[in-house]
Amino acid sequence: MNNPITSKGAHALPKDIRKALTADKKAHAAWKSLTLLARNEWICWTISVKTPKTRKEHTERLITELKQGKRRPCCWMGCVHRADKTLSASQLFLLKKKRDDAQPQTQKATQEKTRQRQSKKQRS
Ligand SMILES: [Zn+2]
Repeated sequence: MNNPITSKGAHALPKDIRKALTADKKAHAAWKSLTLLARNEWICWTISVKTPKTRKEHTERLITELKQGKRRPCCWMGCVHRADKTLSASQLFLLKKKRDDAQPQTQKATQEKTRQRQSKKQRS
């Protein structure tokens, strides 16, 4: 391996995480001791967030938890982006649930808009 901090796996190591790791000697050492797959899980967990704020929080937690000796992110369904591995039943279930959770909200919003439009029409 030319660069021990990079990860093979589905995800490349993003710059911000690399920066955080290299800034902390102990975390960096822990990171280097992880398997490539474990690193991939951490990267996936850190970047699978919706906002930059959460990403920052995850990056900070990564550093803290590496120093606590954690090898993998906890409460994490696992990377679903790996091409070398098929998804497990629980991963599929969680992904489907995520989609289902997101959908009713958009439907509700559309219904709400339609209702507002209709009530406007009735008033005029
Ligand atoms: Zn992933």
